[in-house]
Amino acid sequence: MSAFGACRMLRAVAGRGWRPRSSKPAPSAHAKRPGAGFSFELTDEQKEFQATARKFAVEEVIPVAAQYDKTGEYPLPLIKRAWELGLMNSHIPESCGGLGLGTFESCLITEELAYGCTGVQTAIEGNSLGEMPVIIAGNEQQQKKYLGRMIEEPLMCAYCVTEPGAGSDVAGIKTKAEKKGDEYVINGQKMWITNGGKANWYFLLARTDPDPKAPAGKAFTGFIVEANSPGIQVGRKEMNMGQRCSDTRGIVFEDVRVPKENVLLGEGAGFKIAMGAFDKTRPPVAAGAVGLAKRALDEATKYALERKTFGKPIVEHQAVSFMLAEMAMKVELARMAYQRAAWEVDAGRRNTYYASIAKAFAGDVANQVAMDAVQIFGGNGFNTEYPVEKLMRDAKIYQIYEGTAQIQRMIIAREHIGKYKA
Ligand SMILES: Cc1cc2nc3c(=O)[nH]c(=O)nc-3n(C[C@H](O)[C@H](O)[C@H](O)COP(=O)(O)OP(=O)(O)OC[C@H]3O[C@@H](n4cnc5c(N)ncnc54)[C@H](O)[C@@H]3O)c2cc1C
Repeated sequence: MSAFGACRMLRAVAGRGWRPRSSKPAPSAHAKRPGAGFSFELTDEQKEFQATARKFAVEEVIPVAAQYDKTGEYPLPLIKRAWELGLMNSHIPESCGGLGLGTFESCLITEELAYGCTGVQTAIEGNSLGEMPVIIAGNEQQQKKYLGRMIEEPLMCAYCVTEPGAGSDVAGIKTKAEKKGDEYVINGQKMWITNGGKANWYFLLARTDPDPKAPAGKAFTGFIVEANSPGIQVGRKEMNMGQRCSDTRGIVFEDVRVPKENVLLGEGAGFKIAMGAFDKTRPPVAAGAVGLAKRALDEATKYALERKTFGKPIVEHQAVSFMLAEMAMKVELARMAYQRAAWEVDAGRRNTYYASIAKAFAGDVANQVAMDAVQIFGGNGFNTEYPVEKLMRDAKIYQIYEGTAQIQRMIIAREHIGKYKA
């Protein structure tokens, strides 16, 4: 099935109440009820997206996830299937042939995909991260060319910002772009790029103002770079602690020529674009962490109901049931955090504060809950025959990528304290 077909399929699922790029409930659904404007009720369309993603995760991802983790092989058949089902690139605007879903809906899908395997989910989310700068800052021509392509074929793209010498300190990146005639010539090195070896094109951040005193808001430019451009050398696939089937690589750019038409917004606008994308991508990353935590909770609960010690199922030992209660509390609250962050940005409000709260909190929760699940499994939890050791390894990255746990706290503190100073 073509992606146009897939989009049609999901549109048909969406039916009469289709509302592109908004998660606000249709007025008719809630207006007459008490508490209108504040509702935990998903719309029928949202439930359908969730159910489609859940079915895919349970029936197609979970059965093969351990094998992909073991081999580190890129899960191409799963990615193609997710694309066919319309579960990838769901936020690409309708003007480019996409579904134009809101961040809220994308998060619902992401949580379910992550429940299946966060290696697969990160590969899929890598596309959203690569595409987001083009969605928020691309002109019509750029969007049609580069986003439209993703709807026509199951292609990957990547977000190239981090470098060997600069991750948290984005303004410290050294990759430079020099204007020569109608082109820019790019030289530098990127590191830890998700989908780095699979991408058809990259969003790339490079320094265009050589003056070291130039403010970050003016010194960097965002480019769309074709992955087959001469001068690009893709490094080896990195062997990571978890999410092993996701493709993470270093990439060297040596005299790579990019036409000036591929500059996003204009010279000097890159830093704001690269950072602005996170407002829309951190809620889905948090949703991924919640999906992992929910899976760990489910696995631990099922195990605790079956495993017996001292003559009764371990779930009947209060120490174990209280652990499950703590895990459930964390999953529920982390879900509310990402839903709030997504809802804010879909409502057109600046959500930086909520996005960082969701990302930091859900990242921590994924780690705590996965670790507790291993504990509940006892010796079996430490073994690869059981699902929870993978969850514990996979969880760690949620405290690192798209801004570490410490960077999120810096943002939350800045936003919080700023309100008192205003
Ligand atoms: C699997 C994987 C996939 C990734 N995918 C991508 C991708 O697709 N695109 C991309 O551009 N990048 C990607 N990254 C990079 C990721 O975003 C960075 O690793 C992350 O932002 C941290 O940067 P760093 O590794 O340079 O650590 P550093 O910035 O060197 O930080 C090291 C430690 O110091 C702490 N720290 C740093 N500064 C401060 C401070 N001011 N205050 C307090 N603590 C601080 C950090 O929190 C961290 O604990 C990926 C990384 C991994 C591992």
